Amino acid sequence: MVGAQYLATDSILLGGDDALRERYLPDAAAGLKLGAFALTEPRAGSNPADMATQAVLEGDYYRLTGTKHFISNAGEADFIVVYAKTDPKAGHRGISAFVVDKDTPGLTISSPEKLMGIRGGHAFEVALDCKVPVANRIGAEGTGFITAMKVLDNSRLDVAATSIGISEAALEAAVFWSQQRKVGGELLSQKQGIQWMLADMKLRLEASWALTLQACAKRAAGQRFSQESAMAKLYASEAVGFITDTALQIHGGYGFTREMPLERYVRDARILRIYEGSSEIQRTIIARTLLAE
Ligand SMILES: Cc1cc2nc3c(=O)[nH]c(=O)nc-3n(C[C@H](O)[C@H](O)[C@H](O)COP(=O)(O)OP(=O)(O)OC[C@H]3O[C@@H](n4cnc5c(N)ncnc54)[C@H](O)[C@@H]3O)c2cc1C
Repeated sequence: MVGAQYLATDSILLGGDDALRERYLPDAAAGLKLGAFALTEPRAGSNPADMATQAVLEGDYYRLTGTKHFISNAGEADFIVVYAKTDPKAGHRGISAFVVDKDTPGLTISSPEKLMGIRGGHAFEVALDCKVPVANRIGAEGTGFITAMKVLDNSRLDVAATSIGISEAALEAAVFWSQQRKVGGELLSQKQGIQWMLADMKLRLEASWALTLQACAKRAAGQRFSQESAMAKLYASEAVGFITDTALQIHGGYGFTREMPLERYVRDARILRIYEGSSEIQRTIIARTLLAE
């Protein structure tokens, strides 16, 4: 929910001009306006250049037509940043970004998807057949892909941080349980097998922190951090899968019940390896930046 707000506002902050920033960002920063970020489509997820949504210039307006899928916050948002092709023959160089206000005629939003986890937020399908003023274009035509990639460099750190938060909660629960639960007259925490599980969880949590802070430091220093951001997101989102699963295991049957938060941690953690670029896409980014060094 919070991450999607930043995906929208960063699109305007990093790609837009001062007039557009002034129109949307103060209210968004004050929590008065909620944004959504619409890049993914039913047939274009990992490779945004496959997108079919088009923006055709008609005088002072662009006509936007197409369908976006899995758009977090869209149903509740005051504005949606929509990525669309202004030059369909130019691949990713033909993508531009637009701010579409929620009351724009021709903007249709589905009911929320039924999700496995992260049920505090909602994702929607967004159908577009609407006119958007030229003044709502973010930056020059054809700059949308570069803007989206910069936005995702930032948001991957949010995903890494989310992973760390869930990991910490799961590890804390596992440590607590292991120090209460007795099996065969002995606390779980006294069994070497359980201790090794806890050690592996702690190791992965600390490694997630280290990679995330390294990426944050590069970003704060104004250096390129695409590779570091991808490594932090990849590692922390895979670590949280291991940590939540192991924490549930330490709780035995109790971990599988809804009386305890463990099953929710497992469900919430699963999406972190998929959105903002899946684990496979992060590996591609790491390899590509490594080979270009
Ligand atoms: C709850 C939720 C919220 C979301 N919120 C947003 C949002 O707010 N805005 C938005 O724009 N999108 C959002 N998404 C979409 C999300 O970013 C995409 O689902 C994700 O990028 C993957 O795209 P896809 O689902 O089309 O999978 P696909 O691209 O079809 O990929 C399927 C599988 O193939 C793998 N794969 C793809 N390409 C390669 C390759 N080159 N090499 C190896 N493997 C590959 C992928 O890793 C994946 O495992 C959300 C999704 C969900 C589920």
